[in-house]
Amino acid sequence: MLYQSTRDPARKKYTSAEVIKMGLAPDGGLFVPESIPPLTPDMIDVLCRDDYPVRAAKVLSLYLTDYTCDELLADCTAAYSPESFPGGPAPLVSVHDNVYTLELWHGPTAAFKDMALQIMPRLLSRALVKTGETREALILVATSGDTGKAALEGYKDVDRVRIMVFYPVDGVSRVQKLQMATQTGSNVNVCAIKGNFDDAQTGVKKIFGDKDMAAALNDKGFILSSANSINWGRLAPQIVYYVSAYCDFLNRNVLKMGEPMDVCVPTGNFGNIFAAYLAKRMGLPIRRLICASNRNKILTDFFKTGTYDRNRAFHMTMSPSMDILISSNLERLLWVAAGEEKTAAWMKELSEKGSYTIDGDTLAAVTADFRGYYASEHWTAEEIASYFTCHGYLADTHTAVGLHAAEEYLDKKKNNDGTPLVVDSTASPYKFAADVLASLTKDIGLPKDPLDALDALSALTGTEIPYPLRGLREREVRFTSVIGADEMPAAVLAFCDK
Ligand SMILES: *Cc1c(COP(=O)(O)O)cnc(C)c1O
Repeated sequence: MLYQSTRDPARKKYTSAEVIKMGLAPDGGLFVPESIPPLTPDMIDVLCRDDYPVRAAKVLSLYLTDYTCDELLADCTAAYSPESFPGGPAPLVSVHDNVYTLELWHGPTAAFKDMALQIMPRLLSRALVKTGETREALILVATSGDTGKAALEGYKDVDRVRIMVFYPVDGVSRVQKLQMATQTGSNVNVCAIKGNFDDAQTGVKKIFGDKDMAAALNDKGFILSSANSINWGRLAPQIVYYVSAYCDFLNRNVLKMGEPMDVCVPTGNFGNIFAAYLAKRMGLPIRRLICASNRNKILTDFFKTGTYDRNRAFHMTMSPSMDILISSNLERLLWVAAGEEKTAAWMKELSEKGSYTIDGDTLAAVTADFRGYYASEHWTAEEIASYFTCHGYLADTHTAVGLHAAEEYLDKKKNNDGTPLVVDSTASPYKFAADVLASLTKDIGLPKDPLDALDALSALTGTEIPYPLRGLREREVRFTSVIGADEMPAAVLAFCDK
């Protein structure tokens, strides 16, 4: 299997190791597989008898053909171990009637980014060897909170890789700050920046674009790499849990082979839902893909009208990981539906005008598979309260957006025909404990300290705090440095000398 850029009419080909190492295509496009490998009923039947790591290795082997089966099995076994995922990597939970959640947050940072970031660093480490790279990879991340911690956990102690994370000193929550400052591992570094998230992000981008920095790092034996969510190495592992959910339905006799399920995904950058779309195109019986947005409903509007328009107000919501106005991975869907030339032209319009409109044929092609719904802040809080009261299910703020979209979809009689509907649960409710607690208690008597909110939520609901968020107060703080954004290059070089 070879890969190409979504924007390259010449269709220059790359191996999977190359695309994982490079991240972004040279023309600014995203890497996509040249064809979509079939997943036959016979293959699904075999996967039903496998555990999650084996399912993952077998699905990944269809895409990462320059990795051996043994390599993939070793990496998947290590990534999705019971130590890292004590609740299982992707348990399918029956919530009510035909609604199920796929809980993707039982990993080391209690959010779904772990599903990709536990395996992607291992794939990168091997990609360096496979592409004849002699240097080490240095991962730089600017984070507004969650991605930084998930990347640190994924890259810690991975061979031939170092990682340095920058976060705005006053721009992350106390829980997030503690999670990062207490990070373990011999190849990690964490640094607070005086300024906001943009200052940190601009600082990282400058380092990536600086030729002198590249030369200085090269002298020290490093190449820069990113843990960005548009990297194919992060997307491919997300296909696996949709296949796994279908196998679980078959094993439980909820479905017979070939009968469809619906999938609903709380969406930000469009990575997770695009993985579900690929699973469908491979042959997994998925009827519809329901794209759930929060108040930043740019995708809901896009599926309704065919116009993607980022010239609009940006809202901060209680589902911050979905507060996005550029859903980068949508480009991959456009490429599947309309090809390189149209995709390149729309992306040019997006960067120049902030909007584009797809043609009628392309809109018809994407709306055959996708539906878009959104949840306001009011409805997000209502779903958290009603799912807990009526169904005994405690959802985080992002999952609640998905549950609301699912309810709206099922309100239409023709959709509510007994087909099981899988809603991705993308974060532990404890990751957003203060907002979940506020939704349950209608804002009465809330603890001021976010760490206390964890205990209060546990006491109120009788559920357990997940292991990554337990005992945060007692952990050793390893990283305390706070620097100006202009000092970032020096800090990076100093880290390389360690
Ligand atoms: C990143 C994230 C999302 C959005 O996923 P995309 O792949 O960007 O669409 C949803 N929920 C949570 C908790 C996340 O961290």
